[in-house]
Amino acid sequence: MKALWLENQKLSLRHDLPVPEPRPGYALVRVRLAGICATDFEMTRGYYPFTGILGHEFVGEVVAAPDGSAWMGKRVVGEINIACGECATCTRGYPTHCERRAVLGIRAVHGAFAEYLELPLKNLHEVPDAVPDDIAVFCEPLAAALEITQQVHIQPGERVLLVGAGRLGQLIAQVIALTGCALQAVIRHDYQRKILEQHGIETISEGMVRTGGWDKVVEVTGSPGGFNLARRAVRPGGMIVLKSTFKDDVQVNLSSIVVDEITLVGSRCGPFEPALALLASGQVDPSVLISARYPLDEALEAFRYAGEPGVLKVLLAPAD
Ligand SMILES: [Zn+2]
Ligand SMILES: [Zn+2]
Repeated sequence: MKALWLENQKLSLRHDLPVPEPRPGYALVRVRLAGICATDFEMTRGYYPFTGILGHEFVGEVVAAPDGSAWMGKRVVGEINIACGECATCTRGYPTHCERRAVLGIRAVHGAFAEYLELPLKNLHEVPDAVPDDIAVFCEPLAAALEITQQVHIQPGERVLLVGAGRLGQLIAQVIALTGCALQAVIRHDYQRKILEQHGIETISEGMVRTGGWDKVVEVTGSPGGFNLARRAVRPGGMIVLKSTFKDDVQVNLSSIVVDEITLVGSRCGPFEPALALLASGQVDPSVLISARYPLDEALEAFRYAGEPGVLKVLLAPAD
C-alpha cells in the first residue's frame, strides 16, 4: 500500500508497504481522511525517535476485524494510545499513561498517512451519520481540547486567556467559549482574528496583555515566548494549562511560581465521545479551519504547504 514514511527525520512517499494483517482484537481500517498537525512537524524535527508511517488524526472505515464482525463497514475515528492493559498504571485506571503504550504514528505503531491502518477495536468510536468525514477528522484534536475542561473547572465569568491561536488553539477557543467564561485570545495574525471573531471570541494583541490580568491561561504555542507571556498574564493564585509540547527547554523562575501560588497543569489526549457529540450537534465547527485537501500521492507537497504561515488544517485523502 501507499503511505507517508518517516525515517531519520526525512519524509518519503512509499508504495511498497504491506497492508496490515489485523491481530486478534484489532481492526483493519481503510483511511478516508487524515489531518496533518503540529505534532507531525515536531516528529520530522526529532521530537520522538520514530521510524514508520506518520499520522494520528483520521477518519476511516473498518474493512476487517477478525473478532469484531459488528464493526465491519462502520465509519470510525480512533484513540491513538494503545495501552498494554497490564502494567500498574493501566490497572490503576490510567491507560493513556501506560508505561508501555504505543501511540498511533508517534511511538511503535504505524500511523494514518496511509491507505490502511490497524488499531485495537477498543480504541474505535463509531462516527454518527450526521458528521461528515471532513468534520470527523477533527475528533482527535477536539478531544485533546476537551481534556482541558475535563481537568480544570472553568467557571462562567472567569477571565481566561488563550495564548496561541493556530490549528489546535482555534478548537480550544471554541471549546472554552462554551463554558461561558470571559475568554480572550492573543493573536499574531489577521486570519486568526477573523476565525475567532466568527465564533464571537474576543481577540487581543500581545501588547495588550496585562500583567496578572487573567484567572486562567491556556498556553498552546509550545514556545518559551508563549510560556513567558502566559506566566506574566496569570494572576497570583491562578492557573496555567500547558497544552502543547515544548521543543526547547524553558527557563522558569520557580520561586515566583511558589510565591504567587501558580498551578501548572499539563494536558494531552482527551475523551472522544464528547468530542463526537460536539461535532454532531454543531456546537463546535472546525470546517473553517480546513485550508486544503490533497491526495495521499501529493503528501510531500501537502506537508510543505501545511508549514506555510497562515495555513491551518491540511487534510490527506488516500482515495482521491
Ligand atoms: Zn495531532
Ligand atoms: Zn500499561
